[in-house]
Amino acid sequence: MADTIFHKIIRREIPADIVYEDDHLVAFRDIAPQAPVHVLFVPKADFATLNEVPEASAVVVGRLATAAARYAKQQGFAEDGYRIVMNCNGDAGQTVFQIHLHLLAGAPLGRFGVPAPAP
Ligand code: 5GP
Repeated sequence: MADTIFHKIIRREIPADIVYEDDHLVAFRDIAPQAPVHVLFVPKADFATLNEVPEASAVVVGRLATAAARYAKQQGFAEDGYRIVMNCNGDAGQTVFQIHLHLLAGAPLGRFGVPAPAP
């Protein structure tokens, strides 16, 4: 079994500000928020990166997205807007190798990524 910091949070071995949990996933506030609202949605099923998720397990990723949207509606910022992000491997800056969805909200978020080099 994988044993990342997120697995330790799921097992309650280290503290986190958990805002939602069900049989499939846990959501908790990011320790270094990049927006006024920054919540991580983490499945209980083990997948190091999105690359490891087979088609048959697409529901695992779908549940993260729908849980994030439900949370946005419950918290009252769904209409103002929010961003969901899943980083995969080095170029995206993934640092924890258990898949997770970032939910960012609470202010205009600007653009993201880096510009393509000029031709
Ligand atoms: P990644 O860069 O892998 O997409 O995102 C990992 C996220 O996990 C980062 O935004 C980082 O701030 C957050 N993080 C890392 N360690 C902890 C922790 O111990 N607790 C919480 N709540 N968030 C963490």
